[in-house]
Amino acid sequence: MNVVRQREVDYEMVEAKVPKIVVVGSLNMDIVVEAERAPVQGETILGERAHVIPGGKGANQAVAAARLEAETIMLGSVGKDDFGNQLIQSLQKEGINIDHLQTSSTHSTGIASILLSEHDNRIIVVPGANHQFKIDDEDVFRSVIASADLCLFQLEIPLSTVIRAVEIAKEENTEVILNPAPAQKLPDSLLQQIDYITPNQTELALLTNREKVDESDLFSAMEQLLTMGPKHVITTLGKDGVAYLTKNQVGKRISSHPVNVLDTTGAGDAFNAALAVAIAEGQEIDHAIRFANRVSALAVTKLGAQSGMPNRKEVDDFQ
Ligand code: ADP
Repeated sequence: MNVVRQREVDYEMVEAKVPKIVVVGSLNMDIVVEAERAPVQGETILGERAHVIPGGKGANQAVAAARLEAETIMLGSVGKDDFGNQLIQSLQKEGINIDHLQTSSTHSTGIASILLSEHDNRIIVVPGANHQFKIDDEDVFRSVIASADLCLFQLEIPLSTVIRAVEIAKEENTEVILNPAPAQKLPDSLLQQIDYITPNQTELALLTNREKVDESDLFSAMEQLLTMGPKHVITTLGKDGVAYLTKNQVGKRISSHPVNVLDTTGAGDAFNAALAVAIAEGQEIDHAIRFANRVSALAVTKLGAQSGMPNRKEVDDFQ
């Protein structure tokens, strides 16, 4: 039975299906240290503040989807340690289903060590348990994926896991969004199974073997990626918005919303989660992209990746 709720669409109250999203991806604890500058080799300096906050592209996207009122299931792996427990609790607080999250007894929870200074951000990620994440019980995995409207992937877990999980999703007729971040080359066999791929400009360049992609060759790079297999290519362009291309259609540009930017961390995660929710709700792709554009614009007005994700009401109120 489909769960339904009242939702305002074009100023009319309609019954909208509650979408079910499975996010397959990473969970990290972000250890953020703020300092005036980065130390030089061999130097110790005093920092200003330190924060320990939940992160990881997978968990960020799961939180964003849950705040947009999707039924959200997170599949991934944390260590059997304090950080792992804290990450699990923070997902539970958001109402995210963590029943099938794996806990590694051999590897610790993934950590991102982030040094923030005014002109310089330096990040080291230790993937830990994220890189141990594999499909241990295929029947369970399959039934979770089959129950969803849409599966959302990124690339902070082993590529072999992404490849197998995408195969299962397609066997079960569940739509797939791949956010190809962090940038890496991908096999054509994977790209051919992707319904929506959402690179930023750097990722688009790498996937299409270019040094960089700029305004002049944006659509030719997207065309090239489209011929490699995905059904829709949606490129996020930061403050310049989004470009969209699908087979046999002219490419489109959608501008971003002018907002007071506070923190762009997690903009892409907000965008991908919102796109997933809108598509799973049955919105047309054009509408879905516009919705995602609004959600990510709101996300950059707030501090923190997960803490900055807007809720549904804020998005509905934001025009
Ligand atoms: P990523 O974080 O993956 O590199 P982008 O920087 O392209 O992703 O941002 C994703 C989306 O977030 C953009 O397509 C846009 O909709 C929104 N966004 C990002 N930066 C801004 C900004 N400065 N103003 C308004 N919207 C923004």
